[in-house]
Amino acid sequence: MITLTEALHEILNGVVPLETEREQLERALFRVLAEDIYSDSDMPPFDKAAVDGFACRRSDIGDTLQVIETIAAGQVPQKSVGQGECSRIMTGAILPKGADLVLMLEHTLDCGPEKIRFSGGDSHTNFALKGEEVKKGDLILSAGTHLLPQHIAILASQGITLPLVSKKPRVAIMSTGDELVEPGVATRLGQIRNSNAYQLMAQTQQAHATPVYHGIIADHLEATVVAIQEAVAKSDIILISGGVSTGDFDLVPQALRSQNIEILFHKVAIKPGKPTVFARAGKCSIFGLPGNPVSSFINFEIFVKPLISKLMGNLPHQQEFLIPMGVDFSRKKYDRLEFLPVSIDAQGAVQPVVYHGSAHIHAFCQATGIMSIPQGKQTISKGELVYVRPISS
Ligand code: AMP
Ligand code: MG
Repeated sequence: MITLTEALHEILNGVVPLETEREQLERALFRVLAEDIYSDSDMPPFDKAAVDGFACRRSDIGDTLQVIETIAAGQVPQKSVGQGECSRIMTGAILPKGADLVLMLEHTLDCGPEKIRFSGGDSHTNFALKGEEVKKGDLILSAGTHLLPQHIAILASQGITLPLVSKKPRVAIMSTGDELVEPGVATRLGQIRNSNAYQLMAQTQQAHATPVYHGIIADHLEATVVAIQEAVAKSDIILISGGVSTGDFDLVPQALRSQNIEILFHKVAIKPGKPTVFARAGKCSIFGLPGNPVSSFINFEIFVKPLISKLMGNLPHQQEFLIPMGVDFSRKKYDRLEFLPVSIDAQGAVQPVVYHGSAHIHAFCQATGIMSIPQGKQTISKGELVYVRPISS
């Protein structure tokens, strides 16, 4: 049985980001930029008032000043400020020639018609210099940037409405199982609702890729083959829930083999999720995920997410934190790397959440993180550091 590291190597080895496309700025959040962006202008593009007040000369700060014009944001000043003069100015407006500071409105007194004086308080310059943030021609965003709201602001400020980004992977999702019915349908004895497909679609969305639902597939070889064939043509990744264990009706590996699709691994030394199958048909990566809901949840986190990240142009790595254990902990079997739901208590220590095994997805509703316990490790003492990855929002 291979290790998680070996499995990840199989999944990621040789994978390159998908081709690029231009995306509307409004839809570019969380995409990875595929071009360097150089500033087309100085920012700010002119000396710009940072407060509402009066633009004047510092040397006149002790005098009564004549107001010679009002400059609103967006207007071009018509007059230079001379000795004993000032211009009423609004935040964001162009600093008029001659002025070298802006007195804040709150720090001035009205001294009769169109006359003011400084009443004390701070006398910072209160304006931003042309080009003080960015100079025309500066590299302001590099290819590979994961676009967050602050980067979207920069693109907007540069007039870029269609940034070049890596494409989103199309992720086909299907559930195998004769016992399954869709959530909107009443169940008969022996049936269960197909929660995995909806969970996997949500996880795919959370990972910023595009889920495409292919429905429930019967536990029947021909049906499984047809479903895989249909999805291979249209998808970058296929997620097949269920049908990968050793039961009589676990037909996914057989369906893959019958199509001469190369299985790169089947079984990984992890818990839950040991029977995971990974195959590749051309550029399409195919995951057969064990049907128990926690297995498919965890396997998406540890196997599918890194692949999506790479295809999207390298999203930031999933972070793991070393956090002290809040209790003494031990497990009976320790032959596999194990993932368990945990929460972090008020003292910042890890507390295992009550958990009954890989069917118990409810436990993950109480959890804020997933703790990983290395292969071979049986006991963890209170205070010992353990790796926890947050269950991200
Ligand atoms: P399998 O991997 O197909 O042997 O399924 C293992 C367990 O997971 C069984 O108890 C299934 O009923 C359950 N299961 C399989 N598929 C799903 C699904 N789509 N949603 C919820 N539970 C499932
Ligand atoms: Mg099944």
